[in-house]
Amino acid sequence: MAVPWFTVPAPSDIGEHRSTRAPCNVPVMARTYPYIGPADIREAARSQPRGTPIRSLGDLANWLGTARGDGLTATFVVSLAGDLLLAPRQSEHVAAAGGEPVRSAGEMTFDPDGTVTAVTNQSTGYGPEPDSWPEVASALDRIGALRPSAFTEAFDFRRCTSCGSVNLVKDGWLVCAVCDQNLPKIWNLASVDQMDAGDIGAH
Ligand SMILES: [Zn+2]
Repeated sequence: MAVPWFTVPAPSDIGEHRSTRAPCNVPVMARTYPYIGPADIREAARSQPRGTPIRSLGDLANWLGTARGDGLTATFVVSLAGDLLLAPRQSEHVAAAGGEPVRSAGEMTFDPDGTVTAVTNQSTGYGPEPDSWPEVASALDRIGALRPSAFTEAFDFRRCTSCGSVNLVKDGWLVCAVCDQNLPKIWNLASVDQMDAGDIGAH
């Protein structure tokens, strides 16, 4: 990707995203992503710990200290409230999110000093769009972490209209990995929102 990173973040809309925080309520402005993965993984996730909320550089240092054995790449989600939640890399995103919808999700890599060196939106459980970056940036800026200016690797997700599989699209290759049918040109996971609306309402 040609997007330069590790520069001072410039997007003018970051402040607006920050102002949409609404604890215990689904924010009106920010797009949220319900879990779209297999039901058995969601069920198994109920007995697994939620991600650790990171609300300060101290929280981040503590988390990196306890996670040292797992390396410095974490599973992350940005919660409905806009908080960054971290979990060990092998964790399911739906477990890290406590089963709730998210604003973004993926993998995040840190330097030992807590600088964020890489962020992706790689989460087939939620399939967040590359456009969810401002939510990640906002969550990191609130704790004061140094970060890239964009996803360092961004993926597109599509649901196959033939077999229903969620595909992670690389290099614009819009062909289903399961059944070889062509995938839609635009993001099409939102139709699942209605199926999960009950979960959001129950929060
Ligand atoms: Zn398919």
